[in-house]
Amino acid sequence: MQLLDTLQASLRELDAQHLRRRRRTTESPCAPHVRVDGRDMLAFCSNDYLGLAAHPAISAALAEGAARYGAGSGASHLISGHSRAHAQLEERLAAMLAPHLEQARALYFCTGYMANLAVLGALAGQDAEIFSESLNHASLIDGARLARARVQIYPHADTQTLTRQLAASRAGTRLIVSDGVFSMDGDIAPLRELLALAERHGAWLVIDDAHGFGVLGEHGHGVLEHAGLRSPHLVLMGTLGKAAGVAGAFVAAHATVIDWLVNRARPYIFSTAAAPAQAHALLASLDLIEGSDGRRRRAHLRTLTQQLQARLGLRQWRHQPTPTAIQPVLLGENAQALHAAAGLERLGLWVPAIRPPTVPAGTARLRVTLSAAHTAADVDRLAAALNQLDSEAGHAP
Ligand SMILES: *Cc1c(COP(=O)(O)O)cnc(C)c1O
Repeated sequence: MQLLDTLQASLRELDAQHLRRRRRTTESPCAPHVRVDGRDMLAFCSNDYLGLAAHPAISAALAEGAARYGAGSGASHLISGHSRAHAQLEERLAAMLAPHLEQARALYFCTGYMANLAVLGALAGQDAEIFSESLNHASLIDGARLARARVQIYPHADTQTLTRQLAASRAGTRLIVSDGVFSMDGDIAPLRELLALAERHGAWLVIDDAHGFGVLGEHGHGVLEHAGLRSPHLVLMGTLGKAAGVAGAFVAAHATVIDWLVNRARPYIFSTAAAPAQAHALLASLDLIEGSDGRRRRAHLRTLTQQLQARLGLRQWRHQPTPTAIQPVLLGENAQALHAAAGLERLGLWVPAIRPPTVPAGTARLRVTLSAAHTAADVDRLAAALNQLDSEAGHAP
């Protein structure tokens, strides 16, 4: 069949470029020590930065939520799927973000991908212009496409170019859109400057805090707490399947923005609400994140980050130290990154090789992620393995 022949040829082309993707199957809960495809591995790849994905109190809350509310919501939020558990979660998130927003309200989504499509689709009409950071997550890029607004891309952290683009814009509505913590680089956006620009130009600043929520800030409230920002111009998206350890996402913003999303955001309106049990489990997760347990986990994560930095002595590859749980090691070519990941795998370490289109061509890398569930011994083992493979790469012909 010709259609299948075309796909098979395209897949062979991916193979030739070292871009073919394949999945691993895990047989144990998400944790540093996992059983994957029948083998015990030490993993540095999940976004479970606080080690909450398999926390007994959260798993118990999920079971309790299922006992109380059942397995499924049965409908979208606007029909009959909006439960008490969803409402409680939204109230709790709004209270957490209230120091940073005016008249804060929050809206819970099934996934962060949907939340980003919803925000950009609903806020950016046809007379809008979106100013999008070049390293933004795919869901923000797709959201901008779906919005059918004009899109200007500004280079990574380049607020000067952004300033020029904003000054030249005649659009009725302007949205500056950026990851808070960049997912493949681990660095933090220049949020204070971005917010000043948004306020000066009457623009919204939409921040995707997928990798900051839970991890950054004294109480784990994310990049806004970390940077000490407050403004009516802010719209915050945070995910709840990463540091929060469960699933879903939220948008927090002024009550009017949230009302507008409820009325106009198609990914919110035309999709079945997540299981109420998930929202119930997230209430337990937020208790841990905001409390002394969360503070201890964030402190341990920072210690591990510093330890990795101190132990690594790379000559061929380049570790890019960051203030977050994401610690990329840059190699360059796709084949090099795959070779390095395979070398780590032989040593029992699971670290993903990240290639285009997830990162720009020529910047293939190992994306090391640390978790508060790792021990100092785990991080020593990783550093020793990376040092060894890096020095072997140096001796290759
Ligand atoms: C993971 C991620 C998302 C998508 O969130 P999901 O809940 O996994 O759909 C959005 N933005 C960024 C920056 C992410 O890393």
